[in-house]
Amino acid sequence: PARQIVTADTPRLEIRALTRRFDGRAVVDGVSLQVMPGQVTCLLGPSGCGKTTTLRMIAGVERQDAGQILIDGAEISGPGGDTPPEHRRIGLMFQDFALFPHLSVAANVAFGLTGPREAVRARVAEMLARVDLSRYIDAWPHELSGGEQQRVALARALAPRPRIMLMDEPFSGLDNRLRDEIRDETLAVLKEEGTAVLLVTHEPEEAMRMADEIALMRGGRIVQQGAPYNIYNAPVDRAAVAFFSDVNVIRGRVQGALTETPFGQFLAPGQPDGAEVEIVIRPQHLKIDFDREGRGPLPTPQDGTPARGVVQRARFMGNESLVEFRMDHDGSILKATVPNVFLPRPGKPLWLTIRRDRCFVFPMR
Ligand code: ATP
Repeated sequence: PARQIVTADTPRLEIRALTRRFDGRAVVDGVSLQVMPGQVTCLLGPSGCGKTTTLRMIAGVERQDAGQILIDGAEISGPGGDTPPEHRRIGLMFQDFALFPHLSVAANVAFGLTGPREAVRARVAEMLARVDLSRYIDAWPHELSGGEQQRVALARALAPRPRIMLMDEPFSGLDNRLRDEIRDETLAVLKEEGTAVLLVTHEPEEAMRMADEIALMRGGRIVQQGAPYNIYNAPVDRAAVAFFSDVNVIRGRVQGALTETPFGQFLAPGQPDGAEVEIVIRPQHLKIDFDREGRGPLPTPQDGTPARGVVQRARFMGNESLVEFRMDHDGSILKATVPNVFLPRPGKPLWLTIRRDRCFVFPMR
């Protein structure tokens, strides 16, 4: 094949319209994305949406029915090329990708390395230092904690200098506190190495914490792609909001680019008169109108009109309280997170406002 010219703009990994069918059903349906060196892209989506199948095709253990995979601009799988898995220089880290129990830590890290003994030894030492485990170089896997084993697995995966790292729920075996720590450490090492990372997860927090870019998947397709900030703050539809938090939905009909609700008017830009819309609000943007209760700050103009509801349930969550209201005007249930100093009793009537600048208006489908 022709030599590729790799420039600063060449994606380390690119997939184009990747498709895989099982029994005539496309479980991966025209997925395209790019990952630059040193960047972490996260495939985020519910179970069964095709994340793992996408990763398996890139790794070369699953064959695509259509589409192309390119590394550094060269086609490694598709009509224009076919590089076997072992020559793709892709590192793998999976949830149950355990260390070899019969090999020492050093031998585990050396596993994928070739070349002169001295060079191998030096790379093993370098990688163990990088994950801060030099003292365990002669230890056995069973002598290490779960988190330490995970760090050795990372050192092993990165030792051969893979151009790309594919990670499938790599941290789900770890307990919460440890997981955050390992995520941050892993990220630091991957950034230092300049590896392009494609990470699969179904956990929104993990995606937010790790990713430079999130590709939100549903039913084999990418429905939205962008920086975590944009995915969270400019979701494409109600399901994209619901993936990250509870949602409240208020329905309305558009008149003059506005829709009138019991909480006041909402902007519905671009929606024609008569269109039915749904206003989607996260619980943290539904506020108790403490002013009506004679305490707390005055509502701001963004808050719209207060509407009254009766507390159905209130749960103390530590950082905040989650309160369910049955609204007087239509009997619907709305959820609000409120400051944790507040835990109203069921049966208590309260007034609610909506942060109108923080809600999303979508056409009804
Ligand atoms: P999870 O998070 O549960 O692993 P996922 O998003 O990674 O889900 P995939 O593992 O890619 O999803 O699976 C996508 C769909 O393809 C699922 O419905 C699965 O049952 C189906 N599937 C995967 N592999 C095969 C196979 N070899 N034969 C038939 N169907 C398959």
